[in-house]
Amino acid sequence: MKVIVEPVGFVNDLIGKARKQEASERMTKHCVTAECDGGTLLYHTLTGELIYLDEKERNTPVTCNLLTEKHFLIGCDCDENRISDHVRTVAGIMRSGMTDVTDFTILTTTDCNARCFYCYEKGIRRYSMSAETAEATADFIRSSSGGKKIGISWFGGEPLFNKEAISLISNKLEKAGTAFSSHMTSNGLLFDEETIKEAVSLWRMNRVQITIDGTEEVYNRIKAYVEKQGSPYRTVIRNIGMLTDAGVRVFVRLNMNRANFDNLMQLAGELGILFGGNRLFCAYPVPLRAFAGEVGEFENPGDEINAYRALKEKLFSLGIGRNEKLLRAYSPTRCMADNDGNLVIFPDGRLSKCEHYCEKDVIGDIFSGVRDHVSAGAWKEKTVFDGCSDCPLYPRCINLKKCPWAAFGCSEAVREIRISNIRDKMISEYRSFISRADGPISQPLSGGYAPAGYDS
Ligand code: SF4
Ligand code: SF4
Repeated sequence: MKVIVEPVGFVNDLIGKARKQEASERMTKHCVTAECDGGTLLYHTLTGELIYLDEKERNTPVTCNLLTEKHFLIGCDCDENRISDHVRTVAGIMRSGMTDVTDFTILTTTDCNARCFYCYEKGIRRYSMSAETAEATADFIRSSSGGKKIGISWFGGEPLFNKEAISLISNKLEKAGTAFSSHMTSNGLLFDEETIKEAVSLWRMNRVQITIDGTEEVYNRIKAYVEKQGSPYRTVIRNIGMLTDAGVRVFVRLNMNRANFDNLMQLAGELGILFGGNRLFCAYPVPLRAFAGEVGEFENPGDEINAYRALKEKLFSLGIGRNEKLLRAYSPTRCMADNDGNLVIFPDGRLSKCEHYCEKDVIGDIFSGVRDHVSAGAWKEKTVFDGCSDCPLYPRCINLKKCPWAAFGCSEAVREIRISNIRDKMISEYRSFISRADGPISQPLSGGYAPAGYDS
């Protein structure tokens, strides 16, 4: 048996080593397996441990004892979901004492130069952050963060529609000696040489997420930019090149649905020619959901899973896939909404918990802080869907009752896509372990307890 990734220290300390039981045992539900190089990889989604068994080791008594010790084999009457819930509760209690807010999502404007048919912000009031509110936002950030390093996510609307607010906030933070870095979700059209220089030096921006919906003709039609000169697609592609040349990582999101799948395969080919081998560039597919308007969802889960896999594999074969690692720490939160360390700031300074702009979900403002703790706390309420209790991802998958995505539940396709993503990560960890051959990957965080963040 090879240990490829060690268990998360925090979880391991909490649940300890298991002992061989007299009663009969079964495999835990919290295990994802993948065949690889003639052996089997097993990933425990609660402990985070990844092991490799070669063919000879599979059913030996020694292996069985080790699998029991590592919680892969458990007593037939064991309720592993209850243990997982307990770990989450303890991790949540440990976090509850952390009062500083260190991650801010700032909507510089709700206005946007694109008119995407699927936008969940369709129909909302369009307004931008004033200079006074930007100054007050910087003051609020400094007073809320306890002198710690700050992470800022520039969001909108299109955040570059109000660059002035970004510069004002960054400038004030810099003058006050506040440590911060930032990233942005943008359609990428409004970048130019000057803006990129400022983004790197003043905004301290190291990453941008840009959505591209198709090849040139399709993209220009879907984005339907209100003011444009020439081809917006070509401008965005040029800007991506300038961003990576300036050292900014670019993550291109490909919103995938039944109607645009063939075109996205073509787009992948074009992006591969342009950016293949560029270590600061990657692209990844995301199945599109109908927040607004008809998005042409796949008719059956099998088609959606196959399409997703085919697109992802093509991106990898072209050297532009998104290579992710398995989680190295345990987090009891889903996202900014249920994390006390995060706040969303609207253009007029009102505070919220979720970046999906919603006038109803205001919990305070930058002038007097969080006032409505009941509403803030409501974002922590969890929900489960049909199938969660038997799903191998149960320990790491958190769904929030108020999350707009919760309305879609969890389809078979979503579940299988998530599991297949975990398998990709397992195999990628194994391959890099073999190439290093210098022992298992240990946990970088003290105790393996993650103060923020989640990915699935
Ligand atoms: S939401 Fe889906 S992926 Fe997550 S635990 Fe439930 S069934 Fe599994
Ligand atoms: S609650 Fe849902 S939509 Fe809101 S930030 Fe979290 S994951 Fe995103």
